[in-house]
Amino acid sequence: MSQLEIKDLHVSIEDKEILKGLSLTIKQGEIHAIMGPNGTGKSTLAYTLMGHPNYTVTAGEILFNGENVLEMEPDERSRAGIFLAFQYPVAIPGVTVANFLRSAINSRRRAENPDDKGISIPEFRKLLKEKMDMLKMDHNFAGRYLNDGFSGGEKKRAEILQMATLKPEIAILDETDSGLDIDALRIVSEGVNALAGGELGVLVITHYQRLLNYIKPHFVHVMMGGRIVESGGPELALHLEEQGYDWLREKAEENV
Ligand code: ADP
Ligand code: MG
Repeated sequence: MSQLEIKDLHVSIEDKEILKGLSLTIKQGEIHAIMGPNGTGKSTLAYTLMGHPNYTVTAGEILFNGENVLEMEPDERSRAGIFLAFQYPVAIPGVTVANFLRSAINSRRRAENPDDKGISIPEFRKLLKEKMDMLKMDHNFAGRYLNDGFSGGEKKRAEILQMATLKPEIAILDETDSGLDIDALRIVSEGVNALAGGELGVLVITHYQRLLNYIKPHFVHVMMGGRIVESGGPELALHLEEQGYDWLREKAEENV
């Protein structure tokens, strides 16, 4: 069973400590949500998991199936089965969604077996059709240039389609301020609900309580001051909607 373990993680940006001892384990099949006020380090966690060079890990560990993620380059992380959605995806004019997905699948296959010849075109078309149907997407979407002129909702669609075709073991989605209108919220949550469970573990990072009206997480964590100060089930998200974060502030300060 795959799992991502984050143990006592400390991360700094330009000598300022942002994550101050964050621990979390996500197993295949589980949906976890991290919520928390602005500026608390949620995106820092996502970027650190991604391997962004501006974020320095000063202590702690990140293990994926027991292997040290901090020693892997971002592309190795992805080939190992960790999917990280980019909050601000880049446009790649000249590369269609289909071509992009096919080369991503092939690089993942080659990571598992260097002699792999890549997915055949008929096999790829079948997979793409199946996933687009599952996500109720127009097939023309696959022929468009990746993220080129995409609306917020279409970027999310591309992201979810990528997640569906790559079949990662763990997916991390930072849904903080990427213009999540109702349409985009629905796309993300339907995608996550369709794909999660079974073999996929998901970590959704959000400051929108609203997202959790659509995605049903098994575990909800509240992050404040660079660490997780409270964990619970879906009822915790409802409690936060009613009470806000103030009742947790003391707890966050106590632990410093
Ligand atoms: P969240 O996603 O929870 O809103 P972030 O992880 O984006 O929080 O930011 C956490 C803290 O790190 C904030 O105080 C923010 O100002 C600081 N920070 C984020 N990115 C940078 C950066 N590139 N340089 C300096 N400080 C940063
Ligand atoms: Mg953020």
